[in-house]
Amino acid sequence: MNKRKLVVLAVIVALVVAFFALDLRQYLTLEYVKGRQAVLAGYVQEHPLQTAAAYFGVYVAVTGLSLPGAAVLTLLGGAVFGLLWGTLIVSFASSIGATLAFLASRFLLRDWVQARFGKFLKPVDEGVRKEGAFYLFALRLVPAFPFFVVNLVMGLTAIPVRTFYWVSQVGMLAGTLAYVYAGTQLASISSPRDIVSPRLLFAFVLLGLFPVIAKKTLDAAKARKVYKAWPRPARFDRNIVVIGAGSAGLVSAYIAAAVKAKVTLVEKHRMGGDCLNTGCVPSKALIRSAKLLSNIARAREFGVRDARADYDFADVMERVQRVVKQVEPHDSVERYSALGVECLQGSARIASPWSVEVALAGGGTRTITTRNIVVAAGARPFVPPIPGLAESQPLTSDTVWDLRERPARLVVLGGGPIGCELAQCFARLGSKVTQVEMAPRLMGREDPEFSTMVQRRFEAEGIAVLVGHKAKQVLREEGETVVVVEHEGSDKRIACDAILCAVGRVANTAGYGLETLGIPVTKQHTVEVNEFLATKYPNIFACGDVAGPYQFTHTASHMAWYCAVNALFGRFRKFRVDYSVVPWATFTDPEVARVGLNEQEAKEKDIPYEVATYNIDDLDRAIADGEAHGLVKVLTKPGSDRILGATIAGEHAGDLLAEFVLAMRHHIGLNKILGTIHTYPTMAEANKYAAGAWKRAHVTQGQMAFAASFHAWTRGETGFVHVLSRLRALLDKRPYHEPAGAPGHD
Ligand SMILES: Cc1cc2nc3c(=O)[nH]c(=O)nc-3n(C[C@H](O)[C@H](O)[C@H](O)COP(=O)(O)OP(=O)(O)OC[C@H]3O[C@@H](n4cnc5c(N)ncnc54)[C@H](O)[C@@H]3O)c2cc1C
Repeated sequence: MNKRKLVVLAVIVALVVAFFALDLRQYLTLEYVKGRQAVLAGYVQEHPLQTAAAYFGVYVAVTGLSLPGAAVLTLLGGAVFGLLWGTLIVSFASSIGATLAFLASRFLLRDWVQARFGKFLKPVDEGVRKEGAFYLFALRLVPAFPFFVVNLVMGLTAIPVRTFYWVSQVGMLAGTLAYVYAGTQLASISSPRDIVSPRLLFAFVLLGLFPVIAKKTLDAAKARKVYKAWPRPARFDRNIVVIGAGSAGLVSAYIAAAVKAKVTLVEKHRMGGDCLNTGCVPSKALIRSAKLLSNIARAREFGVRDARADYDFADVMERVQRVVKQVEPHDSVERYSALGVECLQGSARIASPWSVEVALAGGGTRTITTRNIVVAAGARPFVPPIPGLAESQPLTSDTVWDLRERPARLVVLGGGPIGCELAQCFARLGSKVTQVEMAPRLMGREDPEFSTMVQRRFEAEGIAVLVGHKAKQVLREEGETVVVVEHEGSDKRIACDAILCAVGRVANTAGYGLETLGIPVTKQHTVEVNEFLATKYPNIFACGDVAGPYQFTHTASHMAWYCAVNALFGRFRKFRVDYSVVPWATFTDPEVARVGLNEQEAKEKDIPYEVATYNIDDLDRAIADGEAHGLVKVLTKPGSDRILGATIAGEHAGDLLAEFVLAMRHHIGLNKILGTIHTYPTMAEANKYAAGAWKRAHVTQGQMAFAASFHAWTRGETGFVHVLSRLRALLDKRPYHEPAGAPGHD
């Protein structure tokens, strides 16, 4: 901090300290001002200008220094200056005071906050640049946050001072008026009966209702602005039209139908979307076959002298399709029609905020008017613009399921969950797999030890893992496909029979009306939604992969609930989507599953944590199963058993994680997990042992010393005084120093 800042800080601190030390707060209480009301009114009569100037100065000082008492001062303003003059004086004094507090916060803290939290503040600053005046206006109008907090926080953002001043003055005007008016009524109280006078009651009702009315007015004004160009039909065909019948769309439609709303679900391709047809279901079916082959290959480890697998790749892929067919009825038109959902096969386009046009698969177009729209259009594999890649017609998670001939040599681009799951499957099915990942390690979102575990296993199974390698080009050379990768400045060429591109998925946001309505997309190319999952049109919602930020089936259905409920009942109560406890798993072998924070995120976000780990290679059941590998790693709040996050690697890690998910969701700490009986011998015991590791790390030397001296006393080896002195040391949390000559039991 430079000298100027230190001087300003010292002055502010001195003034604040003086305020409290001299107990000036007593003069800013309702009792005091009411007691002095007559005297103050007398001053105003005799010296109106001087009193107004003094009052103005005090008001600016109180708000500028963020001292408590502005509300009482405002009431006093009404009481002694009346409604008109009171409002005028308070309006200017509060705006100037607020701006001084804002300037002080900016001058003293913005650089420091930027240096420390610049990364997190960037989106806030961008939002403030774009719509800062509006947000500030909303904050001023709806006094849900204390004004002094708004002043100090706004000072840390990029909002211009001039904007801050005028928006504050205009925004606070209505609130000022309400408080000053209440003040004029307070002034007229002369007997207890006056307190319940209708006018005073009205003033307080106005104060109470003010935030609600202001919020509703704001919402209505905002909504009117976005709907201006779109005439609203007098009646609607449907309560909801859902676009896309994947995990998100199906759940939205299901919930709407369950509460007897009229709902139409439009799907242009296959019911069930990615999860059923090209995602979770086929990939897990393939993983199962691949795992069986891997177990057969390990037969000797289990005491089986000879076991060989005679299999055909096409049969395995046909089984995958049989599994999809078996699950299909869960997501079928028949099931959803029976639940009361109108299912349309066709391509939907949002024609206006109130209507959806469907180009029906059987021919013809149908336009449906609707009260709400849920966009659940999903995502698709991203094929990066690497020269020659598109021309080589790479496989993606959309097309890989059509293969009936195993590629002898497969290059997998991407070291994320999909790339890893499929790379291991193909390797186990007999392909020679090379996995290329640009980042320094696989599964970069997880902590490094988990990436290492997976990479080691992959390499042991014969996969060539090329991390830190960037795919540069795809060529045809002598009739072969060659992938050129770059590593530390030099090129490597990998000849292959097929390329599987798994470098990420991009949301489907184009071609069905979002552009026409001007619905913005985020930097991550997902549909921009607010915390209620509404787009810029309050009746158009988005969920699942198309909206992000997570791309999982369970998050898609979680979001879908919020969309359906907020769309249908939002006028009474809206629910903020809750991402506080989101689990996921990558079904490689070893599986890697996580909920909440991991260590690298905690460091990035500067969140203090402690770590407890348990190595699964020590677990009886894992040893018996021949799967003695893996790790449970739990992050907790320092000094507490509150779980911040857990990552598990190993056999059935995805299932084991459920205990931590439940614990985090319902605020159950590690002590309670430790105090729960876990069946022996199960993999689930690993969770308890991780809790045990945490507990051991938190048993202090002092506690142990006390226990030892207690037992020594029960054996008659030491006196009770000795036990007491150890107990005192324990309670005082200070190291125990053995008295000279005392028997030691450390
Ligand atoms: C290989 C792979 C493995 C995966 N494994 C897992 C896993 O193990 N666990 C997990 O949780 N997640 C997994 N996922 C992710 C999961 O599949 C997705 O997160 C989930 O399917 C998203 O559901 P959604 O409803 O948002 O989108 P989708 O399932 O993509 O559904 C969107 C639907 O909208 C339709 N549509 C789009 N535009 C229109 C239009 N204009 N009109 C009509 N219809 C339209 C599409 O045809 C599509 O059917 C995996 C994904 C892949 C690719």
